[in-house]
Amino acid sequence: MNKTSKLHMTTDEFRKQGYKVIDWLVEYYENIEDYPVLSQVKPGEIRSNLPKDPPIKGRSYNDILSDMDIMMPGMTHWQSPNFHAFFPCASSGPAILADMIATGTGIVGMLWETSPSCTEVETHVLDWLVDMMGMPEKFKSSTNGGGVIQDTASSSTLISLIGAREYSSNGEFNSIATKSKLTSYVSSHSHSSIEKAVKVAGLGKNSLRVIEADEAFAMKPEKLKEQIEIDILDGYIPTFVCASVGTTNTTAMDPILEIGKICKKYDIWLHVDAAMAGAAALCPEFRYLQDGLEYASSYTFNPHKWMLTNFDCSVLFIDDRNKITSAMSVVPEYLKNKGSETGEVIDYMDWSIPLGRKFRGLKLWQVINYYGIEGLQKYIREDVDNTQKLKAWIERDDNFEIVAPVPLNLICFKHKKGSEFNRRLHEAINQTGKLYITRTKINDEYILRFSIGQTTGTINHIRKSWKLIQKIAEEID
Ligand code: PLP
Repeated sequence: MNKTSKLHMTTDEFRKQGYKVIDWLVEYYENIEDYPVLSQVKPGEIRSNLPKDPPIKGRSYNDILSDMDIMMPGMTHWQSPNFHAFFPCASSGPAILADMIATGTGIVGMLWETSPSCTEVETHVLDWLVDMMGMPEKFKSSTNGGGVIQDTASSSTLISLIGAREYSSNGEFNSIATKSKLTSYVSSHSHSSIEKAVKVAGLGKNSLRVIEADEAFAMKPEKLKEQIEIDILDGYIPTFVCASVGTTNTTAMDPILEIGKICKKYDIWLHVDAAMAGAAALCPEFRYLQDGLEYASSYTFNPHKWMLTNFDCSVLFIDDRNKITSAMSVVPEYLKNKGSETGEVIDYMDWSIPLGRKFRGLKLWQVINYYGIEGLQKYIREDVDNTQKLKAWIERDDNFEIVAPVPLNLICFKHKKGSEFNRRLHEAINQTGKLYITRTKINDEYILRFSIGQTTGTINHIRKSWKLIQKIAEEID
């Protein structure tokens, strides 16, 4: 981009169109409640409205921006205050603007040398998080450990598993393709990304042991220990345990402290997946959820979920960076450089699967600086508070029942008329376009999940949504 190009967008036009895009986004956020939360289009509908062939000659940017009118009906509005599906993926002004700067400057921080700020801001801000959330000191860059930003918790878990794989096999798995005896352990409520990581890491799905959960849907440590001992007797090498802080189904909390002691005894890598719930540790009163984190070799949570740092931004902390870099590092001639040779810098390419890396640390930098610790705590506390209010309303209605503990910002509940009724209720709710919730299965029953954490949401939105759920339940009765 420059002032006079005939081919590229000029800087003057970029300025003009940039303001227009910001205006477009402002209008989007101001009117977001007018759109159906869950897109109501049929498969193929959006594509059928797109031109069959690419243009031979370029089009004006005004024209291109108007294509959003075709795409809008196919958007599910994740930032709507009435989006209560999955877990939040909360956006914020500073995160959006930081992402614009990261994209706009177009830097790629694969090596320290290719943009020192990209690396150093990332390292600095992740050290801040360790203090802000009361995590063990071993996750700081001043120790052997440290943090790194990944795209998603799935990648964070995969990298941890690869580290564990090499740790358990003394680095042999990477060099010799042998039939794996390495086993991994999850609870029956862990996220599907762990099974995927096991498959991608080449350990074989059959090496994954699914440990029974208790009545609060948390992993039973005694069952974990039992399975580990059986596996050792059978000649397997227990390698990786993934404990969850806040499962996707119900925000169940695996007992990390007890699990950690077992991992220590058998020298097994403990990975803690706190993808959504981890952000709660911003508030001292929720730090009990990470008791035992000192036993973890790796820990991940997603600021892009419940910490206002637009998708994508998952943070991964490792107690010993060498466990990751020795498993991941490949340095061909063209990546060698003076900075790396000093041995004084971090090259995050050795901590991630992709070589190229965006300046994601800037999002975290701007979010933390804009809100301050107090602002972030206020946001989390308000959501937890609102969740408790909704819980009380549901408890007051004899037709409904809450089916799992509610430690943070998710409520799992059902109508007492049974699974088929809940399935119909769920579909009818989402078809209104006024609200979007998801479902899960607990003890073989169809359960409704209502998740809270929208930047734009207030208690009034939640009250309105609850009244709508009650009304629809009466109508389909
Ligand atoms: N782990 C847990 C507990 C989750 O809830 C999720 C997603 O909601 C994930 C992992 C996967 O997250 P990501 O989409 O960042 O891979």
